[in-house]
Amino acid sequence: MLSGLKAPAPDKILALTQMFREDPRDAKIDLGVGVYRTPEGVTPVMRAVKAAEKRIWDEQTTKSYTGLAGDPAYARGLAGMILGEGIDPGRTAAIATPGGTGAVRQAFELVKAHGRADATVWVSDPTWPNHITILRHMEMPTRTYRYFDDATCKVDVEGMLADLAEVAEGDIVLLHGCCHNPTGANLTAADWTRVADLLAERGATPMIDIAYQGFGDGLDADAAGTRLLAERLPEVLIAASCSKNFGIYRERAGLLLTVSDASEAGTVQLVLNALNRANYSFPPDHGPRIVATILGDADLRADWQAELEETRLSMLALRRQLADELRQRTNSSRYDFIADHRGMFSRLGASPDEVAKMREDFGIYMVGDSRLNIAGLNADTVPVLARAIAQTCA
Ligand code: PMP
Repeated sequence: MLSGLKAPAPDKILALTQMFREDPRDAKIDLGVGVYRTPEGVTPVMRAVKAAEKRIWDEQTTKSYTGLAGDPAYARGLAGMILGEGIDPGRTAAIATPGGTGAVRQAFELVKAHGRADATVWVSDPTWPNHITILRHMEMPTRTYRYFDDATCKVDVEGMLADLAEVAEGDIVLLHGCCHNPTGANLTAADWTRVADLLAERGATPMIDIAYQGFGDGLDADAAGTRLLAERLPEVLIAASCSKNFGIYRERAGLLLTVSDASEAGTVQLVLNALNRANYSFPPDHGPRIVATILGDADLRADWQAELEETRLSMLALRRQLADELRQRTNSSRYDFIADHRGMFSRLGASPDEVAKMREDFGIYMVGDSRLNIAGLNADTVPVLARAIAQTCA
């Protein structure tokens, strides 16, 4: 069986990271992989995470299995952080998953096993490439809706709503809760309301992938769209990740959270538990336990929120600096959208040739679709990037 296998296409972002490592130039700049970095280029362990790990080390007496859904305190804490006060916890069900990717996968598993037989999953064009990879792997019907306007580098809301007007009852519409990956362009509050109205009218179910809560406009603001949909629609699927906002990428802490009628929530929970059992049995515990420890302790939570806020503001400052530099260098407002985008990424709108030229001429590594990781910059490298963009892009 193994002798005839064809190697899968290499992951573009991981291939870019490898290329960066092999580049001998000192002044090279890595704006590829989606990991937060300080101005010094390190991805730190957050203070509250260290403190929580110490506490766990001191106090944990067993590493025996948890429940199939994971630690209930984790699900409760994270559900509260995402949904706020407006949703009756009796309407929710949740399972811990290996990272946000695991939550996405399990949400699709839920749809495949229990949704309408030919339910189509609608994804934004573009979306996080792994959404497509997983959907293809699972052979699920998929369609795209317009999302990013290449000319303005903003959301093409009219195009999006026109495409979503075709969704059928029982279809799943995948939305990014905040900090859209790869574009950085996000729906406004008014746009979210229009999306909610349309989905309610069509009888479609939103699936919200929220992987960057706290990286955009703040913890509550970043969940506003998710909360609106959960309040307005009978059912919502939410795939959440703690990789970025807790900086625990390798611990694999995710959550699949559902909101349904309260009378159904108990059964939904049993179905979710069974999905965990069938796929990997018990979910990872260390990352979720860190998160539950932080969210359940007022001091740790405050310290974590303060550090997350510093992280968010540092990325916003870099966005503003880059937009200002580009305004001066190009003598135009063409790149002002960089300051309006939110989260770690912005799609610049440069062509693949321009992206390759910036890599060759300036040692600046961004993804081929011109997605750049703002957190790969610092105050000293912003002018270098601005010069490269101004000199390279038509
Ligand atoms: N969704 C989106 C949109 C993402 O960007 C990511 C991380 N790149 C994830 C989900 C999942 O992240 P993880 O599995 O590392 O928690």
